[in-house]
Amino acid sequence: REAKSKMPTYKGLERYKLIDKMGDGAFSNVYKAIDLTNGQKVAVKVVRKYELTASQRANILKEVQIMRGTSHPSIVKLLSFSESPEHYFLVLELLEGGELFHQIVKLTYFSENLARHVILQVAQGIRYLHEERGVVHRDIKPENLLFERIPIIPSKSPVQRQYDEDKEDEGEFIPGVGGGGIGRVKIADFGLSKVVWNEETMTPCGTVGYTAPEIVKDERYSKSVDMWAMGCVLYTLLCGFPPFYDESINVLTEKVAKGYYTFLSPWWDDISAQAKDLITHLLCVDPAQRYTIDEFLAHPWCTAAPAPPPPPT
Ligand code: ADP
Ligand code: MG
Repeated sequence: REAKSKMPTYKGLERYKLIDKMGDGAFSNVYKAIDLTNGQKVAVKVVRKYELTASQRANILKEVQIMRGTSHPSIVKLLSFSESPEHYFLVLELLEGGELFHQIVKLTYFSENLARHVILQVAQGIRYLHEERGVVHRDIKPENLLFERIPIIPSKSPVQRQYDEDKEDEGEFIPGVGGGGIGRVKIADFGLSKVVWNEETMTPCGTVGYTAPEIVKDERYSKSVDMWAMGCVLYTLLCGFPPFYDESINVLTEKVAKGYYTFLSPWWDDISAQAKDLITHLLCVDPAQRYTIDEFLAHPWCTAAPAPPPPPT
């Protein structure tokens, strides 16, 4: 992290005071900032125009257009968009809790109740995108899932920790020592997202009637890429490592193509059969067989009430 005194200033962004760097991308930096007109804390994604090709520039504008049209508690809000000759500025709702990725690293893995609490919020956002907006995100991963505030998961005995997590599933949040809180999770980064269905007519984009069958089929299946990614995220949440991994990119590619993964012992021994069943229906190579978002949400593991908490000791 850069020291506060080293925060850059950008021409065209005088309204905001940058206070901290939150993320680094290939062509962008994300900063925590203060809106000087009202004191509101925001996130600003600054994209360097000069490094982008024409089609990459078009993609940023598409990202903005898609985000402008969305409004859902599980999706990061775009507050405003502007540009200077050198930069694009995306002013976003600030999510102070950081990436889900960091929490997995920190905690090793999540209990089933906590994993459910997280993935259901993501799923509600995906359902909204797929069913109501005709949008496929295409980059669902723990780095693009952000916590609204820093989750508090105290380290204590497994029983006590489980108890606190269960309380959190009921929406209770006790700040400070002895409490547990994980709060809201939101989907960020629409840089690769795509509109595939016309919202009103639920027909493929482009001229209906002249669209080739493989396009219609493709667009129908394109939503399934998010479902595969959800399977990968859920798998990782539950055990702490991803379903597909290899040091060799060629071997990894082969494993993914074949859908070759296992519920590795001993890590998966105590995880419920329902959770495994759900993952099996997401990490399914044939997109036609893979669960849709509605099938996901209707699965018993998702609809199950969290296990009753053990009595506090
Ligand atoms: P990229 O296309 O470079 O991946 P992202 O939009 O994913 O850009 O932003 C990069 C990183 O910046 C994210 O992974 C996250 O850590 C941080 N970030 C992005 N948006 C926000 C936000 N609204 N609030 C807090 N942090 C954010
Ligand atoms: Mg990203």
